[in-house]
Amino acid sequence: MTKEHLSLSRRQLIQSGSAALATSVAGLAPAFAKAPIIGTQAPYFYRFKLGNAEATIVSDGPLPLGDPHKNFNGLAPAEMDKQLTDNFLPLENAVLEQNVLILNTGDRMVLFDTGMGSLKLFGPTTGKLMTTIKQAGIDPKDIDAVVMSHAHIDHCGGCMADDGTRNFPNAQYYISQADYDFWTDPAKVGPDFKVFLETAQKNLPPNKDRMVFIKDGQEFLPGIQAISAPGHTVGHTIFMISSGGKQLCYIGDLTHHPVLLMEKPLTEFAYDTDAKQSAQSRVKMLNMLAANRIPLLAYHFAWPGIGHVAKQGEGFRYYPEPMNMAL
Ligand SMILES: [Zn+2]
Repeated sequence: MTKEHLSLSRRQLIQSGSAALATSVAGLAPAFAKAPIIGTQAPYFYRFKLGNAEATIVSDGPLPLGDPHKNFNGLAPAEMDKQLTDNFLPLENAVLEQNVLILNTGDRMVLFDTGMGSLKLFGPTTGKLMTTIKQAGIDPKDIDAVVMSHAHIDHCGGCMADDGTRNFPNAQYYISQADYDFWTDPAKVGPDFKVFLETAQKNLPPNKDRMVFIKDGQEFLPGIQAISAPGHTVGHTIFMISSGGKQLCYIGDLTHHPVLLMEKPLTEFAYDTDAKQSAQSRVKMLNMLAANRIPLLAYHFAWPGIGHVAKQGEGFRYYPEPMNMAL
């Protein structure tokens, strides 16, 4: 505080009495601050260490599925409303995330699933992957492996750009042969899933010469093991990632909802190819993850989708892991 300022304050004190004391002496004039609403969000990536590897989760953007009553089957409406209400979730719209994992092992950059691409079946909020990957400081040219849990639109939709070029020009592609064969075949994909057929045809066959078909139990890349978990699709696969004594299970679409497919995990999901088999896979794999306390990354859970599951009641409870911004 300058001398002039001090003397001004003294004069104000004499002239204005105790009201000025509160403001001028302390230097805290009432601000009545205002500022424009900013309206932009933080960069859409989250980074953490996994053993010797560096993991980054980027997003393809929120995917609003719509009315949960139309998408999750087998729960009475009142039971579904209770589960949602008890968990402070809206009754009218189930909003899924699209958490895309990028694993830098030091030798390789591995991308798990590719989002929706330019397809806007669920509105304008998807299709962010090529932006968020750059926000995260990752060059798409550095991705050497694109690993897909299955061939649905929100997982294979971002392999190819609309101009026919590859979004990840230096990558090999990994998927189960069962999913590749099913979703690119018009004889197998029913008319209700026409857009799924078209999206798979756009994104997978152009990479056939770079496609590696992964098998159940196979460690197809160092530290990355495929585990078949069929039902959601015929070849749906989850991935156990190990590095430096740490593990993370990338569960793809083993469960789409942290509550509705967990409290009563035999609840069925409308987009499952075989919903009963999907539920059996879900229970089996979640039991394994709960028993071994293995952390998971769920593609569709709330950002960034990492946490643990534990057995609770008839099913499971998901415990999101706190984000560690200190890295
Ligand atoms: Zn999905």
